[in-house]
Amino acid sequence: MESHGMWKGTPREQIPWHPTVDNAKCAGCRKCYEFCSHGVYAWDDDANTPEVIEPFRCVVGCSSCSHECEEGAIAFPPLSILKEFVRNT
Ligand code: SF4
Ligand code: SF4
Repeated sequence: MESHGMWKGTPREQIPWHPTVDNAKCAGCRKCYEFCSHGVYAWDDDANTPEVIEPFRCVVGCSSCSHECEEGAIAFPPLSILKEFVRNT
């Protein structure tokens, strides 16, 4: 399995920070997919929606792609969940 390194002392794979897309709200505009440069999303041509294929490539604390979405279809956890994962600061 690809290693995603550590985030403040915690293996990235243990931190549940990544976008969740509500496909029912998605209008298929592709903005999120085209915006993120980290390879988190792939495009599902059949469903005409983004697919989160690499959740642990998402930058912890980033939620920029959700601001691109005019449909409110992209959600993230609250930033407050990150506190418990800070081990070495
Ligand atoms: S939050 Fe940032 S890093 Fe994560 S998928 Fe969106 S744009 Fe990419
Ligand atoms: S930005 Fe929103 S509406 Fe556009 S493809 Fe992404 S999830 Fe769908």
